[in-house]
Amino acid sequence: MPTGPNARGTESTPSAAGAGRYAPSPTSDLHIGNLRTAVLAWFFARSTDRDLLLRVEDLDTDRVRAAGETEARQLADLAALGLDFDPPLVRQSDRLDAYAAAVAQLGDRVYECYCTRREIAEAASAPHADGFRPYPGTCRDLTDAERAARRQSRPAALRIRADSAEVTVTDVLHGPVTGVVDDFVLRRGDGAWAYNLAVVVDDIAMGVDQVVRADDLLSSAPRQAWLTEQLGGRIPAYAHVPLVVNSAGVRLAKRDGAVSLADLAATGRDATWALAWIARSLNLAQTGEQVTLATLLSRFDPADLPLTPTVFEG
Ligand code: GLU
Repeated sequence: MPTGPNARGTESTPSAAGAGRYAPSPTSDLHIGNLRTAVLAWFFARSTDRDLLLRVEDLDTDRVRAAGETEARQLADLAALGLDFDPPLVRQSDRLDAYAAAVAQLGDRVYECYCTRREIAEAASAPHADGFRPYPGTCRDLTDAERAARRQSRPAALRIRADSAEVTVTDVLHGPVTGVVDDFVLRRGDGAWAYNLAVVVDDIAMGVDQVVRADDLLSSAPRQAWLTEQLGGRIPAYAHVPLVVNSAGVRLAKRDGAVSLADLAATGRDATWALAWIARSLNLAQTGEQVTLATLLSRFDPADLPLTPTVFEG
């Protein structure tokens, strides 16, 4: 059940069918790939009578400059496409106590780690096929004296002892996805709560039972599913949707030209144009067809979604 001060249920009545969410980071304006993922999260939630919640992932304060202004522009762009969200809006920066409480709940399976990236790279065994290097466990079983000594050298990160659990999640688009869960970071050495912890704690508290996001996060799903269970939550349904890429095949980014609604408007293409492009890219509309979200929702079928990236030329 939802818990904590920002849990759903006080201001709104949660849908019995559960909830999806869209969780942008307010680092820059949303580009057409981010907007396409938001449209898909909306289709997945609305086509299954779920609520759709919006969560602002503003924890990474080094990177998130002027997050408030960026957030306001992101919300305006989502509204310009016609996407609506159910209350309450959740900001991760308001939920620091919930992350601390979750780590406390995990008890003595959480341990301090003093390793630098370089030490980890040098000690790690061979990388996995996707380049990921599991944490080699250097700080897992230090004595109190060793800990006290290492604490002098640098601030500790916090890791969770996962005993290399092997976890399989089922993704709506990718089928079964198996991953080995290493002792991943819950809090970084600079004190910031880690993405994997915050996402899981928030999804549980918000009653999220459907996670739709870009497929560059697919490899995080086994880790997050495992942590969900450790915290007593229910593993959500996952749909990792394909990316929009630039002409070089690389994940779209701000530097790729006219990619945000503001950039597109400057070249005479409005939100209606953007929605039509998104619809065409998902095989939901013909070239040149005027579309509304309601029409697209009636055509939406996860089984017909493309599984490969779409190129946006800008
Ligand atoms: N905040 C992440 C992003 O903008 C998404 C995290 C998630 O959906 O789990 O890429």
